[in-house]
Amino acid sequence: MASSQQQSAVEDVVILGTGCSGLTAAIYAARAGLRPLVVDGHESGGQLALTTLVENFPGFPEGIQGPELVDNMRQQAARFGARFREGAAEEADLSAQPLSLTVQGEEIRTRSLIIASGASARWLNLPSEKALIGHGVSSCATCDGFFFKGKPVIVVGGGDSAMEEAMFLTRFATAVTIVHRRDQFRASKIMLERAQANPKIQWITNAEIEEILDVGKQEVTAVRLRDTGDGRRWEMPIAAVFLGIGHVPNAAPFAGQLERDAEGYLKTRDYVLTSVPGVFACGDVQDRRYRQAITAAGTGCMAAIEAERYLEARGH
Ligand code: NAP
Repeated sequence: MASSQQQSAVEDVVILGTGCSGLTAAIYAARAGLRPLVVDGHESGGQLALTTLVENFPGFPEGIQGPELVDNMRQQAARFGARFREGAAEEADLSAQPLSLTVQGEEIRTRSLIIASGASARWLNLPSEKALIGHGVSSCATCDGFFFKGKPVIVVGGGDSAMEEAMFLTRFATAVTIVHRRDQFRASKIMLERAQANPKIQWITNAEIEEILDVGKQEVTAVRLRDTGDGRRWEMPIAAVFLGIGHVPNAAPFAGQLERDAEGYLKTRDYVLTSVPGVFACGDVQDRRYRQAITAAGTGCMAAIEAERYLEARGH
């Protein structure tokens, strides 16, 4: 833990993460008078900050831009007294009360903790991919598939996520090509067979995307593929590239302290209770099944209510 410094006051509630779940928890905790301290996280605004138009969040009949939605939530939380600070949890000691976190080298002590640090989509890490996120490159078919109605798209990956995204996208796209780096699939048999039976899905195996075009035009027009066997390269015109190569939960600082599943997601019972009393988890860091803004908001609300009850039961 941080070695320094004088001991800071003990917070009632610290919330890690400023995506949909963290900000909803912040609104509820702030309205309960708990003046939560909200730590931004590595990706301020969470995954919504990376999307464009959000059309499935209830209450916005014309849709709302993802960044605007999270910004509204942030302002709403601030209005009720939530305090925000930069940084992300680097280390944690949850073995005793008060709980202790290190953020930007500084120790923060708190009676309760809401972990809403989310999961980050895995990316290919190509410069062209980064430049075109929100302009035809997406990690969320549910969010962005609709924009490619009547156009051909690619889904990258060979697991269940890729199969699910590809099948979803066949509702809109003229054709969906799954590009997978091997010819063996991680996807479950049933999902793979369903995708294979879908006439709108085409397959390119043993191939990797080397570059996504066209950064200059700020839209996806094609990809350059490379055969992983013989190294042959070719270009394929396409309107969008969806990454279905998995997510990584942002739970590393809690390794060995909170129960996690085989893939690192925090395990919860009664929706948001972790294995340590006073520590709650909400949103994508504990949910690999739904991963929607609205479900993240829902569990964020639950976590704040549980934190409030936890503190109240201990006379705070
Ligand atoms: P996953 O099973 O880990 O599959 C990831 C896929 O992406 C693999 O095929 C992998 O290729 C590929 N990949 C990873 N990094 C890559 C890279 N840099 N370049 C190219 N390809 C890359 O992840 P997932 O599909 O997200 O599934 C995660 C878990 O959630 C699984 O347990 C899955 O069953 C579950 N899930 C279930 C459902 C459902 O039942 N409805 C839906 C979605 C997910 P390699 O195979 O070569 O490693």
